[in-house]
Amino acid sequence: MLSMLCPDLYVPSICQVDLSRLTARGIKGIVLDMDNTFVDWGSSDIPAEVLAFFDDAKARGIRLCVLSNNLRRRIEAISGTLGIPAARGLKPMRSAFRAALALLGTSPGETAVIGDQIFTDVLGGNLAGMYTILVIPTSRREFVTTRVIRKLERAVLGCLARRGMLLLESGEGPTERSATCRPQ
Ligand SMILES: [Mg+2]
Repeated sequence: MLSMLCPDLYVPSICQVDLSRLTARGIKGIVLDMDNTFVDWGSSDIPAEVLAFFDDAKARGIRLCVLSNNLRRRIEAISGTLGIPAARGLKPMRSAFRAALALLGTSPGETAVIGDQIFTDVLGGNLAGMYTILVIPTSRREFVTTRVIRKLERAVLGCLARRGMLLLESGEGPTERSATCRPQ
């Protein structure tokens, strides 16, 4: 069970995801969580460096889609600004990830998930057979239930770290944990 909660990669922010490493792994599509992954919870301001990251991904031929359980209006406003499709679904339900894959037109093995929550983004992506990337939340503001879940998340992160299954990658070098995390 613990391995299903372990991301393949853990980075401080979405902009520190090395896109050339993803394409080298055969990744052709990315499912993006929205709130606190690339935009602060409740905000519509997408930072310039995030926009540049998405432009870089598009230029490399990587397909992008948003997958969120937030209000449809908010999802569509943000995905519309980015010019990428969006699916609304309850993560970690498999149906949510299937909807995102249908939008991307990629197989699970060709798809990465980037998100800030273990029990939704990472668990759902791992169950769907995708490459999972965890980022530190962009903001401390979040839904009240999420704040409770964060306590459980911290316990899981501590447990993974103690077992050597997780290391925050700073961009200084290859510290990917997937080899110890789960079989490739
Ligand atoms: Mg989130």
